[in-house]
Amino acid sequence: MADNKALATELEAREVAEHAREQVWEQHSFALSLFEGRFELDLIHPYPGPQPEEQERAADFLAKLATYCLEHIDGDQIDRDGHVPQEVLDGLAELGAFGIKTPREYGGLGLSQLSYNRALAIVASRCGSTGAFLSAHQSIGAPGPLLKFGTDEQKRRYLPRLAKGALSAFALTEPDVGSDPANMSTTAVLSEDGSHWILNGEKLWTTNGPRAEIIVVMVRTPAPEGSPRKPITALIVETEWEGVETVHECSFLGLRGLSNGVLRFTNVKVPLENLLWEEGKGLKLALITLNTGRLALPAFCAAAGKGSLEMCRDWAGSRVQWGRAVGKHDAIAQMLGKMAADTFAMEAVVELTSGMADAKTFDIRLEAAISKLWATETGWDIVNDALQIRGGRGYETHASLLARGDTPYPIERYLRDMRINTIFEGSSEIMRLFIAREAVDSHLSVAGDLIDPRAPLGRRIKALFRAGFFYAWWYPSRWLTWGRWPLYREFGPLATHLRFARRASARLARSIFHAMVRFGPGLERKQAVLGRIVEIGSEIFVMVATCTRARVLVRDRPTDRSPYTLANLFCLQARERIEDRFRRLFRNNDAATYDVAQEAMKGTFSWVEEGMIDEDWVPPTAGPVGGSDSGEVELTSVNEGEPEPASTG
Ligand SMILES: Cc1cc2nc3c(=O)[nH]c(=O)nc-3n(C[C@H](O)[C@H](O)[C@H](O)COP(=O)(O)OP(=O)(O)OC[C@H]3O[C@@H](n4cnc5c(N)ncnc54)[C@H](O)[C@@H]3O)c2cc1C
Repeated sequence: MADNKALATELEAREVAEHAREQVWEQHSFALSLFEGRFELDLIHPYPGPQPEEQERAADFLAKLATYCLEHIDGDQIDRDGHVPQEVLDGLAELGAFGIKTPREYGGLGLSQLSYNRALAIVASRCGSTGAFLSAHQSIGAPGPLLKFGTDEQKRRYLPRLAKGALSAFALTEPDVGSDPANMSTTAVLSEDGSHWILNGEKLWTTNGPRAEIIVVMVRTPAPEGSPRKPITALIVETEWEGVETVHECSFLGLRGLSNGVLRFTNVKVPLENLLWEEGKGLKLALITLNTGRLALPAFCAAAGKGSLEMCRDWAGSRVQWGRAVGKHDAIAQMLGKMAADTFAMEAVVELTSGMADAKTFDIRLEAAISKLWATETGWDIVNDALQIRGGRGYETHASLLARGDTPYPIERYLRDMRINTIFEGSSEIMRLFIAREAVDSHLSVAGDLIDPRAPLGRRIKALFRAGFFYAWWYPSRWLTWGRWPLYREFGPLATHLRFARRASARLARSIFHAMVRFGPGLERKQAVLGRIVEIGSEIFVMVATCTRARVLVRDRPTDRSPYTLANLFCLQARERIEDRFRRLFRNNDAATYDVAQEAMKGTFSWVEEGMIDEDWVPPTAGPVGGSDSGEVELTSVNEGEPEPASTG
């Protein structure tokens, strides 16, 4: 917001994020080992599978859910009306879809993360908005945090109600709080007699908010004695309480049936017993809940991939132009082939990460973030390609296609619905930072003080010795990793890709070290470099998920080797992307691009914008943003330096 409010500084924002971060790794993390150059395939192969008893119960529920969705949910109608009918939500609640993971003792179905994700994919394949209702309710709405952090009394009071159909929501965002919670201004203070909290503030874009009964609201509570910081705390708030109102209902590019609004809280009395977990643990609660909550979005993306593939395979095979089916023209075939391989990979990621979540022996914070980041970006590419393959019909609405008797594939709606996924539940940019922070964690714990300019001399000297010992062993060992034949022979034609993944993991670990040596504390600002590091790690992770899934499918049905074909194509393409990222890790145009962006913000290139007729919607040019106002641009050349892994000083 461009006003004069005193917003948190960059340092304060980082401190808030770091404070909320889970500091220790108590359980296995396959992805963390990837970034550290330890390729621990045994951790996830054989694939962590579901319990047969649970799968039997799930199959029954999923079959009923699929029938219900087919008969009662019309995604295109909902998109046109901008509203999910209450009967639809009631019907879903009746089936148990409001408490899929909630234990049976609290009135839920007590199913696994895997079954939950499969259920959401079924609903989303009919209607993204209805899927989002269920996901906002269960992935981050009240049941998730209550299950993990609620007291017994809170669970007994709320979980059965929520499972029965009381819609819930999660309210963190405010006008000044998007990616940066440090600016939060909603507050809760204790009443004078200490009997309840008094909540005041406004929350933006709360999904389900206008129709919810129960909301988890993030607030600032008073600073504890001796601390300058007002901690962020989670409260359970009921919307029928006095002082809770929806002051605006928002509408969006896609997910048009979503119920989402600006909620205002005016002197709302919140009982003391509605505090979730502890004072000051609100952000941590949100992050931990999101570790599994995030897995729903990849499931949605996989569903969209499947739908796109089905529509495009039909269309590409039947639409004839220039004497051939368009799918026979190489340009379209390239998109379709990639779509099939990527869709297979998305499902592999969903199945693997869900299985890891269910196993409860993993810390999946990195895997969940990678899945969210990779699947939402790939999902967007897929629907974008699907629209291109459909040509003009891809851009035409379902209703218009239907009215003139053409096949009404809803690609246009798919594209609009898909777009938000790279923004909410942690934008792609924030996911990259989050993953990068975890990826460098082991280095920071060894050498963090060394590169921290604020660390006192004593700590820096200690860190120098610690780092010296550590890297004397660590660095050479990242060169000596064996990643060649005969490793992974049981994977048949995919073994070569796993060997590549193993070598790439070691190279990635070395590159992270090189980046730290090269940029020191400045690395945290090199977001493009960090982004490539994260993308390499993500692609390796997805390659592994894809190979292990293909292996399981071929093991179960040896006569069908088509999973190998898809996994092979995915890996071939992922390897190209990985090589490209390595190539451009330090040798790139980042600095030139950054400089142009800074000048653009100052208005240096505003002449490029000349020639527009309607200027009303062009926001006023912001004032100078840092740096010189001269308007002269210094030409930045390609950064050709190779990393110098010589010293950690
Ligand atoms: C349809 C919809 C539903 C939503 N539902 C909910 C909900 O139920 N509950 C809730 O609390 N919120 C919800 N949100 C809010 C959503 O989580 C935020 O939009 C998201 O966190 C991003 O915040 P922002 O839009 O303010 O972007 P900003 O934080 O203003 O960021 C703008 C751009 O800058 C990038 N950026 C920001 N900081 C950095 C950085 N440090 N480094 C690099 N890039 C950066 C962002 O990635 C983004 O591209 C919803 C939003 C929408 C649109």
